[in-house]
Amino acid sequence: MFTPIRGKSVIVTGSSKGIGKGIAKVFAKHGANVLIVGRNQKAAQITAEKLNQEEGKVLAFTADVTQLAEMKTMANYAEEQFGGVDILCSNAGIFPCSKLDEMTEENWDCVLDVNLKGNFLAIKACLPHLKKQAYGRIIMTSSITGPITGFPGWAHYAASKAGMLGFLKTAAIEMAKDQITINAILPGNIQTEGLKDLGKDYLQTMAASIPLKKLGRVEDIGNTALFLASKEAGYITGQSIVVDGGQILPESLEALK
Ligand code: NAP
Repeated sequence: MFTPIRGKSVIVTGSSKGIGKGIAKVFAKHGANVLIVGRNQKAAQITAEKLNQEEGKVLAFTADVTQLAEMKTMANYAEEQFGGVDILCSNAGIFPCSKLDEMTEENWDCVLDVNLKGNFLAIKACLPHLKKQAYGRIIMTSSITGPITGFPGWAHYAASKAGMLGFLKTAAIEMAKDQITINAILPGNIQTEGLKDLGKDYLQTMAASIPLKKLGRVEDIGNTALFLASKEAGYITGQSIVVDGGQILPESLEALK
């Protein structure tokens, strides 16, 4: 039995929908107080209201992870409302598709700003608060794309997601003296609201390439984050964990027959 997470203060960036919403839901269900963060105020508010039906208190906050001032205000707000910041799930990310011959500098900068620098800024803003708690947990959402696999159109995305793992290793050493752990989750193909637009055939083809023959649920990522945030996971830091139904394992299509 794990020590309950009830009453802990959790910030989840990029949680008005998708994986972030799933992470927020899992923490709220277990009685944690959760701050829903996204740029669109209405979307964050709607999600917070919905998740308030769970055990914990859920509030919305409008902020852009590329803006340090907004990240600082976000962390201060969580401290005011929940009495501190115990856990940061640094999850916000974008994945526009662009092949290399069409990719502009602006495309590259935009993806790296949100997906890589955005993590640095969210973490930097939360660090003073996490230090105070003597229980700091940072969980980043990376991806299998970049650290392990490749996919045409996502060179910038892949670079940002692999970059997160480089950042993680040094950050883990620096934060260890304050008993703060930092780890990353590498999701495979997770079924989010956005994926539904790709159509049933596309989703079936994706599922067929996964040994467990199904896409992941947002709760699968949420449950992994919950474990990494637990007291019992306190000796794990600087690590990454793949949550993908075995997607990265097959050497060839033959292996899936
Ligand atoms: P999603 O459904 O598009 O949701 C993205 C969330 O991030 C939204 O709440 C969005 O809200 C927020 N966001 C985007 N840019 C932001 C910014 N600059 N500042 C603050 N919030 C921002 O995406 P998802 O599929 O759940 O992906 C979430 C994370 O998981 C990403 O880091 C992604 O790379 C990673 N991931 C996803 C999959 C997958 O299969 N879905 C697989 C591997 C990794 P606003 O637009 O209102 O800001």
